[in-house]
Amino acid sequence: METILNKISDSGLDASSVSGEEALIFWNHVRQHIASTGQEKAQCLIISAEFRFELKQYQASIDELKEALSHLSLPEDAELVLEVRNGLADKLIENGDYHGALNEYISASTIAVDNGFIDEYVLAVLGMGNLCDAYGDHNRALRYYQKIDSIDHAIGSRSLRLRYKLYMLACYIELNRTTAATDLIKECEELSILVSDKVLSGQILLYQAKLYLQSGQTDLAMQCLGNVQYSHGNVHSAWLSNSIRIELAACLSEQNKPHLANWILESTHKRIKEYASPILSLKLANSLANISEQKGDYQSALEHQKRAFRIESDLMKKIPIGELGASQLRRLSRFELQLKLILSEQENRELKETTESQKHTVAQLQQDVFTDPLTSLHNRRWLDVKLKDLLLHDVPFSLMVVDIDHFKSINDELSHLVGDKAIVNVSHELAAYFKFRGASCVRFGGEEFLVILERATLEQAEMHAENYRERIFKFGWQSILGERGLTVSIGITLHREGENTQRTFYRADKALYRAKANGRNQVCTE
Ligand code: GH3
Ligand code: MG
Ligand code: MG
Repeated sequence: METILNKISDSGLDASSVSGEEALIFWNHVRQHIASTGQEKAQCLIISAEFRFELKQYQASIDELKEALSHLSLPEDAELVLEVRNGLADKLIENGDYHGALNEYISASTIAVDNGFIDEYVLAVLGMGNLCDAYGDHNRALRYYQKIDSIDHAIGSRSLRLRYKLYMLACYIELNRTTAATDLIKECEELSILVSDKVLSGQILLYQAKLYLQSGQTDLAMQCLGNVQYSHGNVHSAWLSNSIRIELAACLSEQNKPHLANWILESTHKRIKEYASPILSLKLANSLANISEQKGDYQSALEHQKRAFRIESDLMKKIPIGELGASQLRRLSRFELQLKLILSEQENRELKETTESQKHTVAQLQQDVFTDPLTSLHNRRWLDVKLKDLLLHDVPFSLMVVDIDHFKSINDELSHLVGDKAIVNVSHELAAYFKFRGASCVRFGGEEFLVILERATLEQAEMHAENYRERIFKFGWQSILGERGLTVSIGITLHREGENTQRTFYRADKALYRAKANGRNQVCTE
């Protein structure tokens, strides 16, 4: 969608400024002269079809959607194809073509399953259930809605999930399954908190009112109806407000106020277009018939009954209930299995990804556990493991203790932060010098480091220590420490076969002490 909008603005046009008939001309022009791919042409037709629908050019709108489909191909345009087919089905229903709508739902369900689109599949199945509801076969409608139960958790859109539950709820109420309806209404209420859609919340109140009315609690029912908040504009909100009126009339009739009920229904009658909403008109006609009878106006009652009968038989004639039988349901059962398989594969993939990322985290943690955060050198925990390993395998090694000279004064004179910087630089130099010399560097404590040189003689160790000491002495400390330099003192010893490492440490420390005592910035051995 974005590419076609960009192309439109690139050619100096403004899609947002057109409406009505002008919009039809605009989008026809875009389709013929600006859109280049099939998908872009289809998008132009889809938008144009919406404008035509608003202009009540129903058939032309339907034709454009069908033409849009001819520009699209599977599987790459699956998402758009599904959007068009489900939308087309809704428009066909509004136009009274239930057969055409069913065909769209059937093909949408197949495409959705083949391409793993859960929400679009749900929409198609709900559409089929709605047709059964419109026919008056609520039991069968329920069997369609129940086909969604096992994939309920995978529905992406919360409002779609709520709608599916509301359709089930309406069936339960029609079938007088009060317990099931009461349970489900609670679920719907919880879900609606997250959805916050006025029409859907209003629908819950409508059904709650129906349940109250069924159990003779008319006052509570009227209270519910009074709590409905209305929003303006679309077909759904119009459907809701008319349904509320019919229900309100039923409450008034229950309270033996048929004249008031009749007045509400007559005014509703003017608002409903029988052609566009046959089901609502049917309900209205039945209500009017009941209330006329209650008033003793048998002539009117008969007329309303006749109208109800006409609408009902018309619906029955037009809705292809035969094609919504057992074989259709079997087909959906197969799809249900297929979708469950797709979902479990998806869940497996996600699980694998989680495991991978957890493995990575564990590896990272393991590394963190053995690393000093300031210098990235090994820490004492690592040292313990390393020393045990060296002893276990009888690996000879020399031990070097490195200590920064007069470090406390750096902290005192230049701040702790500068002190940290000095420690980091001494560490980096240590790591850099010993990187390729078979040595391991450890931050032993504050400004004290250890180097383990495996299989090195004392002379070799001494040579490396001397090199490193000089490297630190000559390091460019100017930028960090200003006028004052920095030096290190180093003590070295060899590990003797069979001795514990504490003794080795003791000797190295003694060597270091001598280096300090001799004036610092030097290497001593022990
Ligand atoms: P000598 O030449 O005898 O080693 O003198 P010195 O001042 O280096 O030794 P001393 O052990 O007295 O002081 C070490 C100081 O290091 C004390 C402590 O506050 C500081 N220190 C320890 N860890 C850190 C650290 O992580 N960052 C900073 N900035 N200072 C630290
Ligand atoms: Mg020191
Ligand atoms: Mg020290």
